[in-house]
Amino acid sequence: MSYSAQQTLASFSKLKETLSGEIVCPGDEGYEYGIARWSDSCAKQAAYVVFPKTNEDVSESIKFAREQNLELAVCCGGHSFSGSSSTEGGVAIHLGKYINYARCDPEKRLLYVGGGATWEVVERVGMEHGLATVAGSVNHTGVGGLALGGGYGWLTGRYGMTVDNIVQLTVVLASGEVVTANEKEHPDLFWGCRGGGGNFGVVTEFVFKAHPQRPTVFVTYLLYAMEKLESVLHAIGEWEKNAGPDEGVHWGCLRVLPGMKPGTPNLLVIFFYNGEAAEGRKAAKMFYDVGPTAEKAMDELPFVKLNSLQNDADAHGGRKYIKGLPNRSTPPIEAIQAVLQAQEELIKSHPSLVHCGIVYDASPKQAALAVPLEATAYAGRGTGCQGILISFYKDPSLDDVVRSAVRQWAKIMTEMTEAAVNDAGKAAESVGICYSNLDPEASSSDPSTVFGPNYPRLREVKRMYDPENIWNKWHPIEPAELPN
Ligand SMILES: Cc1cc2nc3c(=O)[nH]c(=O)nc-3n(C[C@H](O)[C@H](O)[C@H](O)COP(=O)(O)OP(=O)(O)OC[C@H]3O[C@@H](n4cnc5c(N)ncnc54)[C@H](O)[C@@H]3O)c2cc1C
Repeated sequence: MSYSAQQTLASFSKLKETLSGEIVCPGDEGYEYGIARWSDSCAKQAAYVVFPKTNEDVSESIKFAREQNLELAVCCGGHSFSGSSSTEGGVAIHLGKYINYARCDPEKRLLYVGGGATWEVVERVGMEHGLATVAGSVNHTGVGGLALGGGYGWLTGRYGMTVDNIVQLTVVLASGEVVTANEKEHPDLFWGCRGGGGNFGVVTEFVFKAHPQRPTVFVTYLLYAMEKLESVLHAIGEWEKNAGPDEGVHWGCLRVLPGMKPGTPNLLVIFFYNGEAAEGRKAAKMFYDVGPTAEKAMDELPFVKLNSLQNDADAHGGRKYIKGLPNRSTPPIEAIQAVLQAQEELIKSHPSLVHCGIVYDASPKQAALAVPLEATAYAGRGTGCQGILISFYKDPSLDDVVRSAVRQWAKIMTEMTEAAVNDAGKAAESVGICYSNLDPEASSSDPSTVFGPNYPRLREVKRMYDPENIWNKWHPIEPAELPN
């Protein structure tokens, strides 16, 4: 064994003894769990996976990786579809196994959440006290990546982005030091972590504002024939004009829906109302007027089940390529039809594809827009709706084909939407960039576009907290140069 291999082994053994959690290598029990990600295409062969239990464990793991000159990756729920929570040959710090708690302080209306928790835990614990915060709409998603990247969900209309609800963070820095970040302590770090992702360290605890939440909500799934597309788009436009903060709409053209013939696209509208069913139905009148072919209404859906409704459709496993679209107005019918046609062609030439679809979140933006753009590092606040193009498949040999097809669909959708917006003279209202967490090419995207006007300050914060840029797997921020 060479001298350096002996040294690595000695450091590894020392770390193993020091940790109250675990460290595993390829072949060890728990390793496959440690590298598995929501999309199989994002799993990478780490040299070591650490399952920390404490801040000290995280700190020691960082020091070990730096001594050994190994890349670091941090995993919470593993849902990043850019692979940013995985490392090939480096050290993966997997927070999800042990640091996955949530506890509630009902008097102060605060939720304390471990950096490796999923939203399901947060919702369950919060609702034991009738309290909730802004979670994503699929609750097996991790708190860590979603909250640090921005975060939106059904409660965004009322309470803004997830980042707008963070009041404190515990962060293990690149140096191994553990710090508290809030408005008073390390305020720059606090600002940067709210939208700057994992660029500044490992967040081991989040503290969120929690809001009173009624126990049940109204949700309805409305299914339409594709011929109704134009009328549904019109209804969305009408609804958006006066949408209340307690309402929300997801809509999409999907090819795999329970009970539907696979392959043919179906048009689905999911309407959410945080209140009584009768009022919800009134608010959704324009969608009923279009004439759905089927409806599945949940009049008194327990709030804790709301964000589990889409869990199965978005289950772990298989390969996925998903691309978010720039935040814009609802796309024109021609753009949707062109993308559906392109998807049809891909399915015809590759029948093993599991699913392709177009999904939009058209939830109200007033609360998110009420927060000034520079108040947090998150730069995606815009008046438009969030579109996503998805493709699920199993065969790894299709990776390149699927990626290039989805990029092409995104180009079609973006260009045709842009043209329609310009034709209508609405350019001013369509501000907004692609949501950082929906970018499958996060590590190579231009950060000045992703972070917009907040990028110069983010570079300063990076210089203060990670000057050697060891946290570089998401949208890496270039540390600002030291002044002469
Ligand atoms: C099925 C599905 C549904 C989704 N729905 C929504 C939605 O409704 N709203 C929304 O806003 N987004 C949504 N997203 C996008 C989501 O925000 C991202 O996929 C996000 O990366 C998920 O976070 P994670 O912790 O599961 O991911 P991970 O892959 O674990 O992490 C993502 C990134 O965050 C970093 N990170 C994670 N935790 C920490 C931590 N504690 N400290 C430091 N860095 C950390 C990782 O290093 C990595 O770079 C959805 C994604 C999927 C797959």
